[in-house]
Amino acid sequence: MSQDILIVGHGLAGAILAHSLLERGQNVRVIDSCSPHSATQVSAGLINPFIGPKLNIPTDFDNCMDANLHFYQIIEKHAEKKFLQSIDLFRIFLAVTQKDRWNALASPYKKKTISPSQCSDSGLLATYGAGVTKAWKFDSQGFINFSQKSLSSQGRFQEANFDPMRWTDHLVIFCEGYRVIKNQWFNMLPFAPAQGDVLSIESSKGLHASNGTWHMPDGNKGLARVGSTWRHENLESGPSQRARDEIFKRLQFIPSLQNASINSHLSGVRSGTKDRNPIIGRHPKIKSYYLFNGFGSRGCSTIPLAAHEFTNFITQGIPLPQHKNLSRFL
Ligand SMILES: Cc1cc2nc3c(=O)[nH]c(=O)nc-3n(C[C@H](O)[C@H](O)[C@H](O)COP(=O)(O)OP(=O)(O)OC[C@H]3O[C@@H](n4cnc5c(N)ncnc54)[C@H](O)[C@@H]3O)c2cc1C
Repeated sequence: MSQDILIVGHGLAGAILAHSLLERGQNVRVIDSCSPHSATQVSAGLINPFIGPKLNIPTDFDNCMDANLHFYQIIEKHAEKKFLQSIDLFRIFLAVTQKDRWNALASPYKKKTISPSQCSDSGLLATYGAGVTKAWKFDSQGFINFSQKSLSSQGRFQEANFDPMRWTDHLVIFCEGYRVIKNQWFNMLPFAPAQGDVLSIESSKGLHASNGTWHMPDGNKGLARVGSTWRHENLESGPSQRARDEIFKRLQFIPSLQNASINSHLSGVRSGTKDRNPIIGRHPKIKSYYLFNGFGSRGCSTIPLAAHEFTNFITQGIPLPQHKNLSRFL
């Protein structure tokens, strides 16, 4: 049965959820306050199977990728444009233990191992070598622009702040990113937002590479995105010189970029959570209020699967996975 649904926030979470609900015949409206510091506007769109210094693969990574490929196959057909692209990512080892961990891993996402001298031939400084992994690059900003145009053309998008008196006859889903900390109905939940800076620099290096800090070529524009940083205080203070210095210091694995010109410098805030899982579900008392948030630093990988699960929950009453359900904190 079609329900009247309002989505508050048109970052990746709100936009993907809106299209997922529309596909199932729901009557969806989306509002966005176009506030600064949104995570989606600065996201590098890297989808990397190997997470953190221990190169762990998240247990649901295969399911996440299945959901991504399914979701973007439909969207890209409508848009007549590609948003998700398969890439090879050079994962630079920071220590011998990391290299040993890589060698011991059995994974279909592992492509090959590169010696320090082969890295050097590619202009990379890597004392312990590197591993080439199958990864993806997602054009977050391109997708958000397409989504806004598509929703606007159907009269479903509006630039506005949420006003509770205006939407009393709608089921409301809050997708406000880190601004959930200002949401009086859900800010009791254990969010852990983190600010991050990203630079766009002049770079002719065509390689996608990361040692925790990544270098992502930006099409054929002679630019690359590099970043990012982590800060848990002064979330809304914007880009800083300290972050800029930190990014260049950690980018020493590409020596030719040490004096690269900066084209732009942006910052945004990730809506992380204390247990690193999303927080989604229904308000315990206000039955028409829902939350879809907490995608932290991996939203590009995890949101399509969570949106699929949330859509099943709203339209068919199928329970949410317990490790994502906000009920785990009640
Ligand atoms: C520096 C940086 C780099 C990143 N790189 C990657 C990466 O490479 N790969 C990856 O997977 N993830 C990455 N991420 C994380 C990813 O960007 C996020 O997980 C994802 O964008 C979160 O989307 P969101 O919709 O939850 O939040 P947001 O993008 O912050 O969107 C929230 C939206 O809600 C709106 N809003 C807020 N309050 C209201 C209100 N009351 N009324 C109306 N509208 C409201 C805001 O204007 C905003 O548009 C990165 C994040 C940062 C900060």
